[in-house]
Order: sequence, then C-alpha cells, then structure tokens
Amino acid sequence: MNVSNRLARDAAPMRVLTQSKPESEVLSQQTCFRCGKGWWPRCLSKPKRCPQCKSPYWDRPRQVKQPHTAADFRALTKALQEKIGRELGIKPVEQPSQDRSLIKALVILKGMKAAGHTWQEMGERVEQEFGARLDNEQLKALAR
Ligand SMILES: [Zn+2]
Repeated sequence: MNVSNRLARDAAPMRVLTQSKPESEVLSQQTCFRCGKGWWPRCLSKPKRCPQCKSPYWDRPRQVKQPHTAADFRALTKALQEKIGRELGIKPVEQPSQDRSLIKALVILKGMKAAGHTWQEMGERVEQEFGARLDNEQLKALAR
C-alpha cells in the first residue's frame, strides 16, 4: 500500500501533517479577478501581478460605478436645460401646470382675456392644460 492511499484511508496522519501549516503557508491556486486566469504561484508571498493580463489588481474585482438613477437623470437634464438656456439667453419653457382646478382655469382665462387673446386661443389652452373642450359661449361664461 502506498503512502497516499494510507493517508486517504486514515485521516489522522494527514491531520498531523497539515496541522502546523496555516492556510497562508500553503501554496494555493490563485485566480485573477480581472481576466479569470487561474495559476499556481511559485512562492508563498502574494503574486504582484497576474501572469496573464499583468494586472497588479488581480486579487480584487473591478469597481463598477453606480449607474445613475432616473432622479439623477432628471436633475441633470434640468440643470443642463437651465445652463444652455442661460448661455443662449432663452427663458425656460413654462411647464404645463399640474393644477387643474376650476380656480386655476378661471385665473388663466381672465388673464388671457385681459391680454387680448382670442376665444379660440383660450379654448386651445384650456383643452391642452385641463383636457376639457369648451365652446366660445362656455369660455365667455367662465371668463366674464
Ligand atoms: Zn489576469
């Protein structure tokens, strides 16, 4: 019976043989985090570079930048729009109002009427912002 068979059958001698050697003193196979290369180092000290891709950072995974969130993207878009607007001397585009109350509609209609807009323009704006199609008589009743 050869030695390796005896060691495999009887675990005790194997434990004694390996007991005094902590993990760090035993050669172990290394794997590169960058290219996936696996190799057996020649000495116990940490290999300086991956033998294949030569990366000195072979023992840690590549750091991935956090992807931008949708909120980041919106904020960036807004900041860019404002900056470009300033550079070109353009006033920011007025966002359609989220306020769809009757009061808001009345304020807009009275303002447009005072500014001399036509009933058609007022009707289009109400339809665009409030989703309601009003005829001239209804607009006149509201804006009175
Ligand atoms: Zn590598």
